[in-house]
Formats: sequence, C-alpha cells, structure tokens
Amino acid sequence: MKTIVLLSGGLDSCVMAAIAQKKGEVVALSFNYQQRHNYELEAAKLIADHLSIQHHIIPLIIPGSSALTDIDQPVVKHRPPQEMLGIPSTYVPARNTLFLSYAVSFAESFGFSQIMIGANIHDRNCYPDCSPAFFTAFNTLLQFAIKDKSISVHTPLIDLSKKEIILEGLHLAAPISLSFSCYDPHNNKACGACDACVLRTQGFKEAYASSSSHFENQGS
Ligand SMILES: [Zn+2]
Repeated sequence: MKTIVLLSGGLDSCVMAAIAQKKGEVVALSFNYQQRHNYELEAAKLIADHLSIQHHIIPLIIPGSSALTDIDQPVVKHRPPQEMLGIPSTYVPARNTLFLSYAVSFAESFGFSQIMIGANIHDRNCYPDCSPAFFTAFNTLLQFAIKDKSISVHTPLIDLSKKEIILEGLHLAAPISLSFSCYDPHNNKACGACDACVLRTQGFKEAYASSSSHFENQGS
C-alpha cells in the first residue's frame, strides 16, 4: 500500500506517520502556507528523517486571513477543552480541502492509493474540515473528480483522543518528542496556552495517569 501522509509536524500527524510506515511505502507532504507557527515544518522534517520517510514541503498561498497566518489576529488562549466549541480564529479557510486536493493530485500522478490525515476527536467541534462527514463527502467527491478510483482519504485517528493518540505513539515508538503542536510559539518555544498546547498537555497528563512509564522529554 503506497500512502501519502499529511505531516504537519504536530503530535497527531507524527503518530499517524508511524502508523502508515508499518503498512508500506510512505511519502509525507507538509504545506508552507506562511503559518505563524512555521517551526512545525522543521518538526515535520525531523519526524520524516527519523522515520526515513521521503518528505516534501509544498508552498501554498491561502487567500484571506486567519489567526494562524496573520500575526495581528490573536490566537485564542486559555480555553479548557470542554469550551473548545464553534469555529475559532485559528480556522484557515478551506485548508484541509486545499491540502487534500493537492495530495489527491500527487497520489494520482505518482501511483499512491491512500492519503492519511490526522484529524481526531477534538477537532470536529471546531473545524468543519475535520469532521467525519467532511471526509466521507470528500471520498464521494473523489469518485467523480479523478480517473483513478482506487484513491481515498483515510483518518486513522478520527475517533481517538489526544491521550489515546499519545499511547498509540508510545506503542509504535513514534518520535513524539520531535513533534511541535503550538499555534503561537515564540522563539520556537510553545506558548502553553493555545488550544493545541492545552490539548497536548492534557493528553500527556491523561496518558501519564494511565501509563506511568515511557515518559521522558516528550517535547513541546
Ligand atoms: Zn501554544
């Protein structure tokens, strides 16, 4: 099975890349869309190198603005996970549609049949392009959009919490310590307060509570 992994450099895609690597040939795609947290692209490179996965960084211009691309827009901070509802300022217009469309073109051009994206259970309440319904509809679209009907999008983490993703990553020896999740880093250091930082921290706390071994230097 030849798989394309959308590798942001965050925790989820890091674990997903390790899952994909167990299944066969993998290539990782990351996107440089002038994100304020573009240190994640450095993390993506380190993860791909660690897993010996071929890696491409694709430049992409996204129209409009988002708190992830415009430093004048504040990133929402200090929200407990149960209050992460509705579409936040960190939503990037149609980002996953753009990413997946590029990946589909890459897949059809170079003979890949599977595309993996690391959406998980925390994303669906905030980002419409992370919902199970979106991915089902996207796969339906592919049946009409392209010549190669074998290509489809897969979401192996879609029902997993951050804790469960971390435990799966530890099980697979994924290079979690190389991943970087923060939306609003300063000098490449995590802010500790954005949604991504809050969910990552909570995930490690919950995972640690259920499995007290294997936890050292798990990054930012
Ligand atoms: Zn942060």
